[in-house]
Order: sequence, then structure tokens, then C-alpha cells
Amino acid sequence: MSHQKRLSFEFFPPKTLAGQQALQQTYTALNTAFNPDFCSVTYGAGGSTREHTQSIVLAMQAAGINAAPHLSFGMDDETTVLSLLNHYRAHGIQRIVALRGDRASGMGERPRYAKALVAFIRQHTGDHFQLEVGAYPEIHPDASSYEKDIMYLKDKLDAGANHVITQYFFNTDAYFYFVDACRKAGIEQPIYPGIMPLINYERLVRFSQNCGAQIPRWMHQFLHGKDQATIQQWGIEWSTRCCERLLAGGAPGLHFYTMNHTEPMQTICRSLGLGKP
Ligand code: FAD
Repeated sequence: MSHQKRLSFEFFPPKTLAGQQALQQTYTALNTAFNPDFCSVTYGAGGSTREHTQSIVLAMQAAGINAAPHLSFGMDDETTVLSLLNHYRAHGIQRIVALRGDRASGMGERPRYAKALVAFIRQHTGDHFQLEVGAYPEIHPDASSYEKDIMYLKDKLDAGANHVITQYFFNTDAYFYFVDACRKAGIEQPIYPGIMPLINYERLVRFSQNCGAQIPRWMHQFLHGKDQATIQQWGIEWSTRCCERLLAGGAPGLHFYTMNHTEPMQTICRSLGLGKP
């Protein structure tokens, strides 16, 4: 793969100290092997892991990794979000993944759209942060239509976001069609495909039901009842092929949902020749 293409890894904050120590080994190994453009850490707005996002991001940054916290308003008021932004800025963080966030209990029925967060960050911190926003090649479950979802994506970008990272998908045509539709709608920013390597099939099925990513029927049929080792091996080959197709078709880079695993990420990235000197 061309070394010009962007590479990023996403992690989530573990709840336990042991999990956090394991994560440190994972991101250190992936960073050393592939020198990604950045590593991001999810944010459970309103949830129990949100404080860990901050500590993990700052530990990564201190270790010389370009760290990018995910952020959403969630239940927080503007003063709290602003103080978090200033804290990140003071620690050299230069990129934020700005989201509405998934609804957590106690968050209320109407979380603030990601566009409001993008506008807020630009208003208070100018151009300091590179801002990533989410998009959905198979369309967000709450969207009223395909066109409206793209229109709201454009709104986030017009409010000042720089790049787009997609939800994962198993149908590369969905990504290519989505990118074409975005271009026709006047969106010019890069749209990075989000890649979810197949690790735990049962968990993936649950996730996919919630986020609206469709597992194709043939894949369901094929993987149903297979043992974990077979699934993982098949998943590595499948994910690698999808990444090859995406890059060959013009994707500007890849964003991996690592699920905090070193493998199969290492095998996939090595097979693709990813990584920067
Ligand atoms: P928005 O852009 O606000 O859109 C949400 C929905 O509202 C869409 O259906 C959109 O069409 C619609 N919409 C937008 N604006 C309007 C409007 N003005 N009027 C009517 N409808 C509107 N979740 C977490 O909780 N923590 C994370 O760390 C996290 N990381 C993620 C990283 C990536 C790369 C992605 C793709 C998703 C991530 N998510 C995370 C999930 C995300 O928070 C959920 O998918 C959430 O439901 C939508 O977030 P969004 O920022 O795309 O929302």
C-alpha cells in the first residue's frame, strides 16, 4: 500500500486495571510495528468508562503516540466539555473524533447532534484540533432517509470537521456507493473506511444489530456454528481482501476498530504492507 494513505487504530477504555495494562501493551505493539497516523480512544458518554478515555489518551500522548480522544456532549454541559478541550490542548492533543455518542441511560432522549459539538469546538478552540466525524455507508439507524443522512453529514463538515470515518460494513460496494453519493452532495473531505476485523462472531452479531451494520446472509450461514479458530482465520483473510479492495478502489486510508486486540490486527496490517517508516 502507498505510504501516503492514512492509517489509524481505535481502542476502547477497559474497565479494569488489568485490562488497561493489556491495552498499553497492545497500542505500544501496534504503534511500534505500524507507526499509525493516530490512535483514537472511544468515549462512553454518560457511561462508567469516560474518565478512562482521558487517562489512556494522555498516557498514549506521553508515550509519543498521536492520540485522539473521542468526545460527545452526552450529559455534560458546555463548561465541562470546554475544560476537557482545554486540558487536551494543554497536553498536546491535536485531533478529536467528535460524535453525538450512543444513548446511555440517564443521557436523555435527545442527545445533542455531533454538528453542535463540531461548531462548539471550532468556536472555542479555533483551528487547533483536526476534527473527525462519523458516517454510515449503510445509513445511520435513526436517519429519516439516505439523502438526509448525507445532508446532515455535510452539515457537520460545513461546521468545521476535517475528515470522515465510517462505521464498519461488510459490503465494500456500500462504501463506494456512499462515497459517490457524498461527492454528488458536495462533500469533498476524505472519507476513511472503518474496518472491523472479525474476532468474536457472537459479539459482532450483537454490535451489528445495534449500529445498523449488515452482516450478509451468506456470511451468517457460513460462520454459524464454526469454531473460534476457524472464524478468526477466515476473518483475517476476509478483512484483508476487503481492505485491498477498498484501497485499490481509492479509499484514502483505513481506520481499524481493533477491539483492543493486537492480533489479528498485526497479521492484517502486515499482509497489506501497511505502516510508515
Ligand atoms: P450525528 O451526526 O449527530 O447523527 C445522528 C443521527 O441524527 C443520524 O441519523 C443523522 O442523520 C441524524 N441527524 C443529524 N443531524 C440532524 C438534525 N439536525 N435533525 C434531524 N436529524 C439529524 N459512540 C460512542 O458512544 N462513543 C464513541 O467513542 C463512539 N465512537 C465512534 C467512532 C466512529 C468512527 C463512529 C462511526 C461511531 C462512533 N460511535 C461512538 C457511535 C456513534 O456515537 C453513534 O453511531 C451515534 O448514534 C451517532 O453519532 P454521530 O456522531 O454520527 O451522530
